[in-house]
Amino acid sequence: MTTAIEQTLETYGIENWGAGYFDVNRKGNLIIHPAEGDARSADLKEIIEDLARRGINAPVLLRFPQLVAAQVRKLQRAFSKSIREYEYQGSHMCVYPMKVNQQRSVVEEYLREGSRYDFGLEAGSKAELYAALALEQPADSLLVLNGFKDQEFIQLAFAGATVGKRVVIVIEKLNELDHVLNTAERHEGPLPMLGIRVKLYSKGSGRWEKSGGEAAKFGLTTTEILEVIRRLEEADRIDMLKLLHFHIGSQLTDIKRIKNAMKEAARVYAKVYQMKVPIDLLDVGGGMAVDYDGSKTAFDSSANYSAQEFANDVIYTIKLVCDDENVPHPTIIQESGRFLSAYHAILVTNVLDEIETVVEDITPIELDDDDPQVVIELSDLRESITVKNYREYYHDALEHREELFTLFNLGLISLEDRAKGEVLFWDVCERADKYAQQAKYVAEEFDDLRRLLCAKYLTNFSVFRSVPDHWALDQLFPIVPIHGLNKPPTEYTTLCDITCDSDGIIDKFVDLHDVKHVLELHPLVAGEPYYLAFALVGAYQEVMGNNHNLFGAPHEAHIHIDDEGYLIKKVIRGTTVGEAAERARYDRSFLHDGFRRLINQRVKDSELTEAEGTELAEFYESRYGAYTYLEVNGARTRSRRRGD
Ligand SMILES: *Cc1c(COP(=O)(O)O)cnc(C)c1O
Repeated sequence: MTTAIEQTLETYGIENWGAGYFDVNRKGNLIIHPAEGDARSADLKEIIEDLARRGINAPVLLRFPQLVAAQVRKLQRAFSKSIREYEYQGSHMCVYPMKVNQQRSVVEEYLREGSRYDFGLEAGSKAELYAALALEQPADSLLVLNGFKDQEFIQLAFAGATVGKRVVIVIEKLNELDHVLNTAERHEGPLPMLGIRVKLYSKGSGRWEKSGGEAAKFGLTTTEILEVIRRLEEADRIDMLKLLHFHIGSQLTDIKRIKNAMKEAARVYAKVYQMKVPIDLLDVGGGMAVDYDGSKTAFDSSANYSAQEFANDVIYTIKLVCDDENVPHPTIIQESGRFLSAYHAILVTNVLDEIETVVEDITPIELDDDDPQVVIELSDLRESITVKNYREYYHDALEHREELFTLFNLGLISLEDRAKGEVLFWDVCERADKYAQQAKYVAEEFDDLRRLLCAKYLTNFSVFRSVPDHWALDQLFPIVPIHGLNKPPTEYTTLCDITCDSDGIIDKFVDLHDVKHVLELHPLVAGEPYYLAFALVGAYQEVMGNNHNLFGAPHEAHIHIDDEGYLIKKVIRGTTVGEAAERARYDRSFLHDGFRRLINQRVKDSELTEAEGTELAEFYESRYGAYTYLEVNGARTRSRRRGD
């Protein structure tokens, strides 16, 4: 259509990372499709305005459960296609690892779609198991239990088997086997199945490389595996051992490493089978990566394979090894979490303001004769910088700025002089930047300068709450405005969140070839809201997000996309100010009593009237229900193009 939209699609890489779910409509708004190739769509700007009319202001986490279902289908189709193609004799089933996103609505949506293919669940702790036991699962699906287990965990697992779930207890440590065997002795009714987690020699790639290899935290060594088999035979319980498990890490970026791990694991499986163990399930763990930056490379926030390629390599490798060992093809269990849940959640929030480095409007530059020499020199640089001398003049400016601060620290120049000098310095920088960007080859120092000069957009969210992996692991998430995409973005920006933490910033952005250090956005217009979407935040971010500065969970809305557009199915209000304080053990009565005590004292001292005291108490108590984020609709300032 218009080239402006095509251009913004490219700037933000929407088609690269959007997996067919994200697009831009004629109005220039970001839209979501419920599945790849599905023409139906929801306009994010319309949804946000609709929610605002209901009193639900940004930030809002938008959940699109249909995207969980679409990913389930994508994964299932990829595997069934390879199974047919390679004439694999076993089948494929998923167990969704709850730790990726335990939210009931997410798990239920997964089960709704997954029940058509006997997809089950994976729990890694007592609390996850406790939740899983109450969920309805297809009769043939599995409930796989990983993680370290105590006696209680194992008893809960047995309770699951008693109510008819196909529970698999994966042995991570030898002592867990003792608990299992003891419990089995005293147990009546169906027994859970057992699995063993293997410590592979093969490693994954990417940020979670440590999850695999000999030094991994989890898994049994070869000696321990043989010991488990021996003890089970001794106890006449070898029939319980059904599954072999491994997991070499999350966000596996490189398909070669995955193939190597499959080869090794399939070989172990075959050897165990040949020991007359009635094993028939091979659990290949999770790790299927999400291409957050859309680059299709082995870069940390990407992956150099598609779902189909992943499925092909898993199926083909396991078949090859099993045929070679003359062992029947196992049912393949897969624990993909990130791949299934990342796409469905989008955080939308507003930019509040711009944090200015230097504001010329409030510091007019009028030179007079008694200005210090350094200020006059900076002013000369500003007036005479050109495309030919900008590099040299920029270096001079850096020197003068040093001098400015030295003189100030010695008490030789005034605060006014310092202010003048700073404004002039930044003006020289802006002009130098403009010339540098016109050059064919931009020297590295000017890339750094651009970063320094870029606008800082103050954005209504907490990095620690909503994209903790960006803070902790430098993971990249696509960030796009949800409107105005029919106009080219002209500002270079980084994002600052509203926590009081200097780590609360985003200055790394997705890019096809590298990592971008500035994000192109539109100028802010006074009184008009400017909304950004943080996409692909459905995996890990919600549960890893923390209470830093007591910013709570944002509001949440569940959206269904249909022929008419969208339907807001459910709205869940975010954490209130009072609830956030209670998380730190300030309970409501402590807070209200404490504040009232101060009021009573003032009333007693006749500094407040009785009526004023009551009003103040009511005001304070009513704030219990306030939103922890800033309630501002329009942007506050109008940003200027610097250097204009
Ligand atoms: C975390 C985890 C998973 C999920 O990994 P993804 O990368 O989200 O697919 C699967 N299995 C185990 C044992 C895990 O610990």
